[in-house]
Amino acid sequence: MTETTRLLRDLVALPSVNPMRADIPADISFEHRVTDYLEQFFRTLGVPYERQPVAPKRENIVARLNLLGAKRTLMLEAHQDTVPVDGMIVEPFGAKIEGNKLYGRGSCDIKGGMSAMLGCFARLVREKPKGCCNVIMACSVDEECTMLGVIELAKRTKADFAVVAEPTNLNIVHAHKGVVRWNLTTTGRSCHSSAPEQGVNAIYRMGKVLVGLEQYAAHLRATIRDPLLGPASISAGLIEGGVSVNTVPDRCKIAIDRRLVSGEMPDEASGHLLTYLKEKAGIDFPFELTSPSIRMPALSGKGSEEIQKLLGAAIDAERGSHTVHSVPYGTDAATLAFAGIPSVVFGPGDIAKAHTIDEWVPLDEVEMASNILFRLACSLG
Ligand SMILES: [Zn+2]
Repeated sequence: MTETTRLLRDLVALPSVNPMRADIPADISFEHRVTDYLEQFFRTLGVPYERQPVAPKRENIVARLNLLGAKRTLMLEAHQDTVPVDGMIVEPFGAKIEGNKLYGRGSCDIKGGMSAMLGCFARLVREKPKGCCNVIMACSVDEECTMLGVIELAKRTKADFAVVAEPTNLNIVHAHKGVVRWNLTTTGRSCHSSAPEQGVNAIYRMGKVLVGLEQYAAHLRATIRDPLLGPASISAGLIEGGVSVNTVPDRCKIAIDRRLVSGEMPDEASGHLLTYLKEKAGIDFPFELTSPSIRMPALSGKGSEEIQKLLGAAIDAERGSHTVHSVPYGTDAATLAFAGIPSVVFGPGDIAKAHTIDEWVPLDEVEMASNILFRLACSLG
């Protein structure tokens, strides 16, 4: 068994389910088992590392290879968490190998990619090849829910380039939309429904907000468009309000998902929406918009041309060809790019197998990804 396969088997066997819902059992939730394993791995390699606290039981772990004379620094980034294991038809933490496939939760997204990076990193540490750049191996937390790990990582860690692991079938992803999510609440005054005129109905108020939101969605589609990523968008996905049919409701809440294109600032999107609702949609009663539960800018594809070219050359040298394309899903690369680190997304496995009930990753692609990243590091010094 190769070192990368062994790493992958060990990592899949360690549960690190993102506690994105309240009912995730304690013995499989949070990333700390993986973080402890990685700490042991970096200690054995003899490289400096730090744990970056993000939330209770949740720490990024970041190791460094510093080489005398190296001018540039490459960050290899992979997230430690996985999605939950509901309905899986393979043993989620069994890490079973059958032929070229290793099965289990996180095998494809993204412990396969992480193992490729760790295998490459260990080889660079041992061999210190001529012309190699400095390397930061960064393992973040909470990618699958609110992306808090990479925000902390971007604040504390600087690099000249980053490769972010996600399953891309060994192709390069250079662009994707961003996302911001908020809750919007209308309030009113409750009373008995037999005399509704004595109260203020928060659901009626929300109805007016929703009409405005639908107009705003059309306005966004018509006015904010990216040649690569398409239009900006907004959607209301959840609604709740009221306590009983015979009570005029005093609260109604919706959850809003806003997709951003290149150049849109996550923190400015709420102001843009509020101005529209008040000035164009005529909402003249108070309502409340929470601070965002997730805040990820778009990955524009601009500024990362050099790393696209060098990674592309490394891929071609290993397997002949590659594509560079945008994707509909979001990644940690956007936050790193927003912090000034030119970033691309790359990894073994197919995104179509991520989060599935029989998740698996092809072992030969994991191995090849490791070799490609090794070549890349050797071409960056
Ligand atoms: Zn992922």
